This record gives sequence, structure tokens and C-alpha cells, in this order.
Amino acid sequence: MKVCVIGGAGYIGSHAVYELIRDGHEVVVIDNLSTGKKEMVHKDAKFYLGDITIAENLKEIFKQECEIKPFDVVMHFAAKLIVPESVEQPLEYYYNNVEGVRIMLSVMKDFNIKNVVFSSTAAVYGEPEKEICEETDRTNPINPYGETKLASEKLIKWVCERYNMNYCIFRYFNVAGADESLEIGLNKDNLTHIVPVTVQTALGIRDKMIVFGNDYDTKDGTCVRDYIHVSDLAYAHVLGAKYLVNNNKSLLVNLGSNEGYSVLEIIKEVEKYYKVNYEIGERRAGDPAKLIASNNKAKELLGWTPKRNLSDIIKSDINYRIKIKD
Ligand code: UDP
Repeated sequence: MKVCVIGGAGYIGSHAVYELIRDGHEVVVIDNLSTGKKEMVHKDAKFYLGDITIAENLKEIFKQECEIKPFDVVMHFAAKLIVPESVEQPLEYYYNNVEGVRIMLSVMKDFNIKNVVFSSTAAVYGEPEKEICEETDRTNPINPYGETKLASEKLIKWVCERYNMNYCIFRYFNVAGADESLEIGLNKDNLTHIVPVTVQTALGIRDKMIVFGNDYDTKDGTCVRDYIHVSDLAYAHVLGAKYLVNNNKSLLVNLGSNEGYSVLEIIKEVEKYYKVNYEIGERRAGDPAKLIASNNKAKELLGWTPKRNLSDIIKSDINYRIKIKD
């Protein structure tokens, strides 16, 4: 397959590129490097500096590439994804996340590219009504980030229906860890996600961390999430792309593990290796108490299940942070 990876210099996008290249595909990366880094792009991928919120920019790249050989699949990773930041900056989030998708789809339609793989999120479920989220559950986001992803999902569905295209929408749960080569990983300033924050605290990169609330209705009062290794998640994109090309049919699936861990359990897992200096603080805006995925549909349609567990995820993040520390 020839695959265009928009946002391929970012954390999840770069891991998808690695998995695509390992599986023998041709990869073209488009990234505006707003949060991504050029050195995260695999050396065998072709790189374009481009911004999908600028239609002319995207058209120019598609023209150049599709004249050589059209893309079989376009993957979209170019979203802003920090929940508290989205509460602070709703206008920026809608513009980047929804308008970016609209422009991407419009350029895909113009170039007659039929297949799109889209990164969505568990945040579309909001506060789930059931213990474990299934894809058919009602969606009701409780923060702007989740709203922009749900709006994008709906836009993709309508456009694919109208123009005879196929979508593979993945609803990610909590992603962490790094590629086993340790060449790529989550390497940004001001990280906010729980796994890297805990590991950075353990390694002394931060003095202490705050657990945002311990009065939730969960096993120990702290929020419960479903954690998945980034390489497992990335590999699902290879399977999703093949599914679209081979079946000419759309799908929407959760990518999670069927298991939930609390914030304190994450800290405990890291504390198997290092002491973590933490304090209990106030709840954070926009946090649902519990988000766990059913991954039965991913298993059934794609033959996908995560190969790595929480212990692997934590070890992987520790190894990566030690590597980039110096
Ligand atoms: N969390 C925390 N302290 C931190 C960062 C996160 O207690 O420094 C909690 C957060 O409130 C949430 C869970 O960890 O309950 C997962 O948050 P994260 O930002 O990693 O992912 P999200 O689920 O928001 O996408």
C-alpha cells in the first residue's frame, strides 16, 4: 500500500509509520511540526512540511504524490489532544481538529482517494453508562476535545457515504510507551499524561506529581483508565488500512484492553522500580471517573488484540525516558 500519514512526526503517528514500514508499505508523511519533530519520522518515509488547515498546501502535496502513484489510504493523526487545554482553548481545538479533517476529506475527494483511517478517542463516550464501553454505546463528550473528535467522526461518516469512500475510525483509550527501538516515543515539553508524568517524577525529572482527585466512584477513588501500548495501537492502523483496501467497507472500533487501572495503580506499578513523590490534589476539569474499552469488535473484525500489558507499558516508558534524559 501507499499510505499518507498526516501527523506522522507526532507521537502516535510516528509509531504508525514505523509499523507500516516494518510491514513493507510505502509511506508519505505530512506534518506541520507544531508538536511533532522531524527526527521522529522514519528514515524510509518521505516527509513534507505541510498544514492540513491550509487547503492549498495539502492540494499541492497530493498533486505531487498522486501524479507518481495515488495513495491507497490516508491516515489522520494531526489533532490537538490535551483535555484540559481543550477546555481552555475550545476555538483552537475546533479549528485544528474539525476544520483540518474537513479540508483533508475535501482534498481526498478531489483526488479520488477512497480510504481514510482516523484517530478518535474514548472521550467521545463522556461518562460511560456501562462498566466497559462498546462502540454502540451512546456518545456524550464532556470536554471540547471529545466534542471535536465526535464532530470529526460524524463529518467523516457523512462524507464517506456521499462520495463512496471508506473509513476506519479508531477510538483510542489511554496510549503510552515507546517503540522497542527507543528511537521514537512521547518526547515533548510539559507532558500532562499520567504515565510519562509518573515516570518523570520517579526519575527525578519532576519534584512531585499531583493525583487529580481521590473522591471518584472507583475502586480506590482515583480515575480508572484503559492503558494500551503505542506499538499495539500503531499496528492496529496497519490492519485497519488493509481492511479498507481488501474489503471496501467501513468500520469503527475501540482500541483498548478490556481492563482498567486507577491512577494509584499506575503509581504502584512505577514504584516497583522507583519511588514516586506524589500528593492528592483537586479533581481536574473534564475528567470522567472511568473509561474502559471493550475490544471484542477489534478482535472480531481485524484479528487485533494488545500484545503488551501494563507492566510492559511502564517498562517501555521508563526505558525511553532514561534514554532521552541525557
Ligand atoms: N492524572 C493525574 N495526575 C497527572 C496527570 C493525570 O492524576 O499529573 C489523572 C487524570 O486526572 C486522569 C488520568 O490520570 O484521571 C488519566 O489522565 P491523562 O491526562 O493521562 O489521560 P486522559 O484520560 O485525560 O486522556
